[in-house]
Amino acid sequence: MNDPLTLRDLESWSRPGVSLAVLGHPIKHSVSPAMHNAALDELARAEPRFADWRYFRFEVHPDDLPRALELLHAKKFRGVNLTVPHKIIAFDRVAGVDEAARPIGAVNTLLWTERGWRGHNTDGYGLATAVQETLGRDLAGAPIVLLGAGGAARGAAVECLQRRCASLWIANRTAANLATLLTTLAPIADGIPVRGFTPAEPPADLPADALVINATSAGLKPADPLPITLAALPRPAAVFDMIYNPPATALLRDAAKLGLPQANGLAMLVHQGAKALEIWSGIPAARTAPRMAAAARAALGL
Ligand code: NDP
Repeated sequence: MNDPLTLRDLESWSRPGVSLAVLGHPIKHSVSPAMHNAALDELARAEPRFADWRYFRFEVHPDDLPRALELLHAKKFRGVNLTVPHKIIAFDRVAGVDEAARPIGAVNTLLWTERGWRGHNTDGYGLATAVQETLGRDLAGAPIVLLGAGGAARGAAVECLQRRCASLWIANRTAANLATLLTTLAPIADGIPVRGFTPAEPPADLPADALVINATSAGLKPADPLPITLAALPRPAAVFDMIYNPPATALLRDAAKLGLPQANGLAMLVHQGAKALEIWSGIPAARTAPRMAAAARAALGL
């Protein structure tokens, strides 16, 4: 694949077709261009209006994000995806935010409008759809044990509460970050019990049959510690790890040893992407998701 594009490429941008972009730092390993361009190719075969749609990746330093968003808007890019570390920074820089994304404080999808970018967050949809597809479970009505208190955990927690999970138990390594997340969630809990705990000391009243969701980055590297010892919890119903590369983390291997249903984050990646394309194109996410899934697997060498 070519080197990622930069701000300089954007300054001289004059492509006539419909352009989409993902911005990140780093962006080199993003699977999103492969997923979106595969879906767009397939759409173009059925509907000629998609023939000039293309999705590009840009390496953008956080200091350059305001300028990049300004240029992308001026050059009339139809939509933008944001990945690490831009999701939170962009939240305060858009002209409007989708109501469901507001409590998350982060946006991963921007839609061009006359008055500026409109921010959305499709990660929660991606998580809920992936959990249903891979584990056959609804977030609604489920007791949830969520691991992590960073950006992904915050999005997952908001989605679980908006879909009315039965209860939400959050474990995180750093107590102060956990406390901040719990304070943020309090106004939207709407009667749903939300409790925090230290991963090394699971409370005795933790519910059995919970869906365990790993939203920590522990597991990205082989030497990482486990985010939690599953055997120390009342037997969970299933384990979902947001990490997709590597495809099997130590946590998922533990889940398999215990005979628990388990899934990695690849389906989440796919469904958040398909939802973003729906926002830009009006094509239902369910229609493009299968092609995106195949492209993501190929790009990851799976
Ligand atoms: P953040 O940096 O915002 O948060 C990282 C979280 O991981 C914090 O809670 C941090 O805890 C915890 N953590 C980091 N290292 C360790 C460790 N060694 N042991 C225990 N806990 C640890 O990252 P994000 O929230 O943006 O991303 C988290 C994960 O989710 C990443 O792996 C990312 O790839 C994945 N993700 C997957 C998506 C998908 O589509 N499948 C979408 C979005 C994210 P502490 O507070 O103690 O520092």
